[in-house]
Amino acid sequence: MTTPTVTERGRLTALRATWLFDGTGSALTPDPLVVIDGGTIVAVDSGMAVPDGADVIDLGGAALLPGLVDTHVHLAFDASADPVGALADRSEDEALEAMIRAGQAALRGGVTTVRDLGDRDYLSLGLRGRPGLPTIVAAGPPVTTPAGHCHYLGGVAEPTEAGVRAAVREHVERGVDIIKIMASGGTLTPGTYQHLPQFTPELLRAAVDEAHRHGLQATAHAHAVASIADGVAAGADGLEHVSFWTEDSVDAPAELIQLIADRQTIVGLTVGMVPMPGMAPPPAVRARIPLMVANMRRMYEAGALMVAGTDAGIGPVKPHDVVRHAPAMLRDIGIGQAEALRMVTSAAATVIGLGHRKGRIAPGFDADILAVDGDPIADPDVLHRIRAVYARGAAVPDAGVPDAGVSPRREVR
Ligand SMILES: [Zn+2]
Repeated sequence: MTTPTVTERGRLTALRATWLFDGTGSALTPDPLVVIDGGTIVAVDSGMAVPDGADVIDLGGAALLPGLVDTHVHLAFDASADPVGALADRSEDEALEAMIRAGQAALRGGVTTVRDLGDRDYLSLGLRGRPGLPTIVAAGPPVTTPAGHCHYLGGVAEPTEAGVRAAVREHVERGVDIIKIMASGGTLTPGTYQHLPQFTPELLRAAVDEAHRHGLQATAHAHAVASIADGVAAGADGLEHVSFWTEDSVDAPAELIQLIADRQTIVGLTVGMVPMPGMAPPPAVRARIPLMVANMRRMYEAGALMVAGTDAGIGPVKPHDVVRHAPAMLRDIGIGQAEALRMVTSAAATVIGLGHRKGRIAPGFDADILAVDGDPIADPDVLHRIRAVYARGAAVPDAGVPDAGVSPRREVR
């Protein structure tokens, strides 16, 4: 009875590179060595010797940074010109297949964690934990009003206190990670208006309260000034977009900006867009952009807690790895590049509840790593020069290749 049990320890992997941004700092560390055991980072140091028996991957010239975290994506929207129509035409299996492609595209582009703030019929929940996809935090279908913004996703609540609480409880029973509620209308849904609230302040408060009763965060899609104010007053943990939309312009009252900052309500800035010649935003949006950018700057200066949530999937300029484009836009708002990088790594991980294992290159954290060619603090465009992506320790095939895995046949309809 003395048969020895041999536990085979997996081989360690050591990534060597020229620079490291650890997700929290303000400068790059030279000559990093990041040691990975399975899916976890076990050691990080500068100029360290390679541990015995580790496989060394030399990414000379590259900078390592944590895999990117996007706090607001839609895997169910396919980033086509008509994502709502395309989704409506898909069966459940087809929708799932498209969502997997979207997740793979995110991963190839260095986005290793996404928070899906609106799927159809809870489909994203089944994709959580699946190898070959980013880590997914899922809201399921957003809670909305009958015929309200994104009602076609399946999250319609009867507009009464009992109805709203029941809708939140259904989401809880289905196992969502967060409650997303459509506090105002949105562009993707004709017949809804961005400048108008969808719920009364009382119903918004009931939804947030019901989420909190079940230990979940609630974040509110809020363009309208009144919806932003109602969301803050309701105690929403987060606000998405925060565009201060009025019927004909944008108007951000100073006291509301200060309240958002004082309460540290999480502001999910809808930043990040792939520049595409000939793809101009609609005139109503274009006219408001300079004002929205100015208001982002005001929120930043007031000390608001801001992260990048791109709304990836809602159009061709918003593919599922678009968060790489957020730091350049954050720079235009006046935010320093190291801070912009924290907003798409450690700060983003923290606001989505994964700050203990995502968004940093540090011992004990998941081995989610993006390697790029150059210095991402000096130049945000470096983020698009991808050398390698690791997700929970596994090298992502075709990293940096946007269209890999899309068979030509599938593209021809
Ligand atoms: Zn969205």
